[in-house]
Amino acid sequence: MKYERTSIAPEEISRQIAICHTLFDRVTAGGRRPLAMVDTYGCQQNEADSEKIRGYLAEMGYGFTGDEFQADVIVVNTCAVREHAEMRVLGNVGALNHSKKARPGQIIAVCGCMVQQEHMTEKIRRSYPIVDLVFGPHELWRFPELLQQVMERHKRVFATEKSSGVVAEGIPENRDGRVKAWLSIMYGCNNFCTYCVVPYVRGRERSRLPEQVVQEARELVEAGYKDITLLGQNVNSYGKDLGLDVDFADLIREINAIPGDFLIRFMTSHPKDATEKLFRTMAECEKCAHHIHLPVQSGSSRILKAMNRGYTREQYLEKVAIARRYMPDLVLTTDIIVGFPGETEEEFAETLSLCEAVRYDAMFTFIYSKRVGTPAASMPDPYTREDKQKHFDALMDLSNRISAEKHAAYIGTRQRVLVDGETGREEYNLSARTNGGRLVHLQADPALVGSFVDVEIVSGNTWALYGKVAQHG
Ligand code: SAH
Ligand code: SF4
Repeated sequence: MKYERTSIAPEEISRQIAICHTLFDRVTAGGRRPLAMVDTYGCQQNEADSEKIRGYLAEMGYGFTGDEFQADVIVVNTCAVREHAEMRVLGNVGALNHSKKARPGQIIAVCGCMVQQEHMTEKIRRSYPIVDLVFGPHELWRFPELLQQVMERHKRVFATEKSSGVVAEGIPENRDGRVKAWLSIMYGCNNFCTYCVVPYVRGRERSRLPEQVVQEARELVEAGYKDITLLGQNVNSYGKDLGLDVDFADLIREINAIPGDFLIRFMTSHPKDATEKLFRTMAECEKCAHHIHLPVQSGSSRILKAMNRGYTREQYLEKVAIARRYMPDLVLTTDIIVGFPGETEEEFAETLSLCEAVRYDAMFTFIYSKRVGTPAASMPDPYTREDKQKHFDALMDLSNRISAEKHAAYIGTRQRVLVDGETGREEYNLSARTNGGRLVHLQADPALVGSFVDVEIVSGNTWALYGKVAQHG
């Protein structure tokens, strides 16, 4: 596919915002307070995209609800990474039939990665007549215009043209929280791992300009955000398309220089592009969390090759060793796919032994899901679902055991945590995160939400740590 850089002109975004204001008069006519519901599936990038959709909707005058029976507009932001997510979306979109009947005039939009696949758009066109608007990730920037077309023309609108992707600055954002923020630094992926649909639906890698990213980070810090997660499918290739001599490590350093007490996190890091310079930068930048999500996918070099991951088991283990040399306290998490086509018992055993060797703090494990149009979809796959489930269960057991052991080692230690929210429970009413991103439950004053606090860890299990406030920091 040909690489193209396509920046959306600022005047185009201004035009979209002007459309929001035109729609404002229409949807708030007679003093009405219209409501919208945005339902998000999948990864953090989708969460960040939904903040933009809500940003536009807020400009149009919409308030937000979680109840589809109250909503005038429903936007379902979908994921295509695994079949399970797609099935859930289709089931839930089908169920909107009830709210649409109860609220004639309700507009239903489906967007995101799932609908960037032709067969899915066709399915919605044919079998889901309640859906009024369908738009892919490359069209998000012109959501106001598309919604206006639905409202004014009273016909269904489909905007899912093939594209290698765009970069659009200046879209308003309606963020989810006040403590943690997502900050997209790049879009798309060039890696074409053989199982993965992302490069087909999200287009080629496009980096935002460093000054745009740093400016947004500065604004977030000034607005009081304390935990900023830099997002990209492979943040380690940030800047390669810009030709500006700025790489991901340089970007971290620039953000680290912003005055204020806050944490820098990032995801996801592709192991083949994780450099010693990155680990050194993480160790040297005091605001950078000592956490790296480094998806290994498999512990077998043969499977890694079939996956087109670009590293062997040994090269991966070497990167982990270097990273730990720079940061002995590094928290390491990973993604693993079980049951890639043709994965044998012995190859799966190599994944188990790699996990034993690395001892991840947490692992996200998935059973391989066949994705239309990817190379792996046509690879021979003689193993049954039951075989894969058995492996998946064994890996989960291992992962749970190691996480519990790792958490047990925190007991009695003092940790500086960021209190990020209330749990809604009476006991352990607050949730917090360690520098490395481990979840800590606390019993303390809700006024501490948004503050860094020193806690003593009193207990822990597979999923979380429990602590008490040692001293207000
Ligand atoms: N860009 C990120 C993650 C993208 S998808 C990265 O490369 O790490 C998130 C995770 O979903 C992947 O790490 C992988 O473990 C899993 N995944 C992707 N495609 C999948 C498929 N077809 N079946 C099962 N899991 C998959
Ligand atoms: Fe998918 Fe691989 Fe790109 Fe991650 S790096 S999004 S797994 S193709």
